[in-house]
Amino acid sequence: MVCFVVGYEPMPIEIKRLAIFTLCAKAVFTLVANYRLEASERKAYLLLLRETHRAGHALRSNAELSKLSLTDSLTELANRRQFDTLFNQHWQQAVEEHATIGLMVIDIDCFKAYNDYYGHLQGDHCLKQVASTLHAHAGNACVVARFGGEEFVVLSMGQSHQAVLAQAEQLRQAVEALQLPHHGRTEPGNITISVGGAMLQPKVGVTASQLFRAADQALYEAKRQGRNRVVMINSLDALSGDGLGRSIQ
Ligand code: GH3
Ligand code: MG
Ligand code: MG
Repeated sequence: MVCFVVGYEPMPIEIKRLAIFTLCAKAVFTLVANYRLEASERKAYLLLLRETHRAGHALRSNAELSKLSLTDSLTELANRRQFDTLFNQHWQQAVEEHATIGLMVIDIDCFKAYNDYYGHLQGDHCLKQVASTLHAHAGNACVVARFGGEEFVVLSMGQSHQAVLAQAEQLRQAVEALQLPHHGRTEPGNITISVGGAMLQPKVGVTASQLFRAADQALYEAKRQGRNRVVMINSLDALSGDGLGRSIQ
């Protein structure tokens, strides 16, 4: 355009100058305007990108935090907090579906003596091995959790009394089969667990904590009978105060 104006003979020089100045000013103005527009679009895009990244990061952090708060850091099993929630949920489900619900409370035998003899780090290692064995052999169980210390809980739904008893015995045998030496106990041997179990079909007037108490009572009885055994309680009898059910081993 500038070349055309310069070469256009009939146009007086003053007009040419004005035309060239106008053309140049227009070009500069367009360039600056384009540059600014592009810069602001680029900035908006980068801001959007940063916000998306931040939101994704925050979501991931939230998910990770919530997973951390529900998992036991040593054994990587569900922790007590998660168990409490799941226990209530499964109890509710059992009520609605008229299903049975089974609970085992599991405790490592003479574990204080194990720590005293081998040290706490080895104790932690042992806890991890027992936890992963329980997890691997829990079969139909819907929840395996570390309840606290050297105690674990296993929850199952829709299983018969016999099935829960058989599963508890399998878990006991699986831990025994690890053959983790325990020379700190009164009678040196291997690491073993005691298991208290209870199973019932929820009915009006019976609560989840009563099932827990029944299983806990069965565990107490397993310890009393000499440890490394399963005691399964007939919960309804136990709740009314009489008797412990069958024990095996
Ligand atoms: P029992 O057969 O009657 O259950 O005897 P116990 O010695 O296992 O029971 P007690 O309750 O006397 O001791 C439990 C021990 O478990 C005491 C504690 O130091 C240990 N313990 C609890 N949590 C941890 C843990 O996270 N790591 C280690 N290494 N030890 C733990
Ligand atoms: Mg204990
Ligand atoms: Mg113990």
